Formats: sequence, structure tokens, C-alpha cells
Amino acid sequence: MYALALHGGAGPRPSAWSVALERRYRDALAQALGVGHELLARGQSALDAVTATVAALEDDPLFNAGRGAVLTSAGTAELDAAVMDGASLAAGAVAVIRRARNPVKVARAVMERTTHVLLAGAGADAFAEEIGADLVPSSYFLLSERPVSEEPLPGTVGAVALDGRGCLAAATSTGGMSGQRPGRIGDSPLIGCGTYADDRCAVSTTGHGEWFIRTVQAYDIAARVRYGHSPLSAAIEAAVIQRLPTLGAEGGLIAVDAAGVICMRFNTAQMYRASVREGEEAEIGITATPMP
Ligand code: ASP
Repeated sequence: MYALALHGGAGPRPSAWSVALERRYRDALAQALGVGHELLARGQSALDAVTATVAALEDDPLFNAGRGAVLTSAGTAELDAAVMDGASLAAGAVAVIRRARNPVKVARAVMERTTHVLLAGAGADAFAEEIGADLVPSSYFLLSERPVSEEPLPGTVGAVALDGRGCLAAATSTGGMSGQRPGRIGDSPLIGCGTYADDRCAVSTTGHGEWFIRTVQAYDIAARVRYGHSPLSAAIEAAVIQRLPTLGAEGGLIAVDAAGVICMRFNTAQMYRASVREGEEAEIGITATPMP
């Protein structure tokens, strides 16, 4: 059994919402899901599937990651990404990276080609160059036409997967919070906060990163499953629906467990999301209707 889920950020519904814009988001979500789905169907790893899925979302200007990254108060794009392999607990991440087209691929290289977990700033950019990552000029991120003009984009992107061998993986990528101070790092590249995978579940979050750091959110879900013996859905209900709102923390997350159960929950008006399980139809969701 394989399973794949992705998110494209949680938040309020953009005021300039339209049927045409919804169609664009749905198409983009389906396209990115298809990228990872194809890899899993061919027998490739969960790690490959989440990396490729997130890279596809990074390339799409509709999302706040890669090309569509929001800008800091200084008008710069500073990108964060992480990837984690649940079977080995290997993880790689980059923060405040400015020149890589696909930060998730650089995060994967940190995992596979260094003895470190997280590289940040100039050192991360130098590493991206050193490994021959696809580099882009800063103008690549300065999009003149945002899909919803003047509004912050919905958010971070992420993917979680279970592959046919029973291995889990998670990946997350973001441009951070619109107007954030230069140098600010959110939850997405912090292992255990915005991204986590072990042999029980894989988690990727989106929302107000400072809260996801304070609550060590992705690991909180994994710990509820591992130590509390909680089913994944109950762990996420307790965290995202019951606890986070009491803290004033807005956002959501996607997760998959070792049995291929997918959960996608959020306490905001919407979360762009999509999922597919082996032998089942793909599902695309935006608002809080019939998705798991
Ligand atoms: N969690 C991301 C951050 O704080 C932002 C988001 O998900 O929208 O950087």
C-alpha cells in the first residue's frame, strides 16, 4: 500500500476568490499530486515522492514556496525547506536560502551529502552552489503578478508519503511569513516543528510558524502516536482542533501513518490539499468539506 498527501498552505480565504482562481489551485494541486503519485506507483521511495511533489509546488507561483515565495520586510525572498526519511530518521534542511530554485532539493542534499541536518544563510547558498543545484537570480522570486494581488499567499507547501516498502517520509518548503524580518526562520525547516517522520507517521505543517515551533508540533503528533498509542486521527484532532486554538495558533497539517491512513486537518477557513492512496481516486480539497 502506498499513500501520498500534500498541502499548499492553510489560512483565510483570499478576498479576491473566484471560480477561475479555485480552478487554478485545483489544477495545480492535482498536477503536483500526480508527480509524486507516479513515482510511488513505479515503486520509488516515499522520500523521492515527497521531494518531487514539493519541488513541483515550489515551481508553481500560486504557492508561498520557491518561485511564489512571499517577501521579507526588506523585499527579499528567504526560503526554508526540510525533508525527513522516517525509516532512518535521516533529515536535511535549509533556512534563509536565497538562490536555489528548489530549496527542498538542497535540503535533501544536506541530508544525503553532509553530516549535518540544517544549513542556513550564506553557508546554505554556498552549499547549493557547490552541489550544482539549480540557481536563480533574485528576480525569479519577485513576481510582478501575484495570483491574488496584494494579499499574502496562502502558505507553505508540504508532502507526506508512505511507500510500497512501508517507509514514511515528509517534506516542507516555504517563503515564510509575508513581511517577516530578514533572518526570521519559521517552523518548516526545523525538524520536529514543521516537518517530521519516523516509522509510525510522517507530518508536514502549515500556519503560524512560531506556534508550531513552541509546540514542537510535528513531533507532538508523532509522540502522541508513539507514546500515547493514539490513532493518527485522534492525535491530530487533539493537537490541531483542540489544543492549538486555545493558544491562538492558526494552521493545519497533513500526516500519514504506517498503515496508509491519511489525515489532513486545519483550524483555518481553508487549507489547499490533495491526497491519493493506492487503488483509490485522488481527492482535492480547499475548504473544510468532505476531506479526511
Ligand atoms: N509555517 C510557515 C512559517 O511560519 C508559514 C506558513 O505555513 O504559511 O514560516
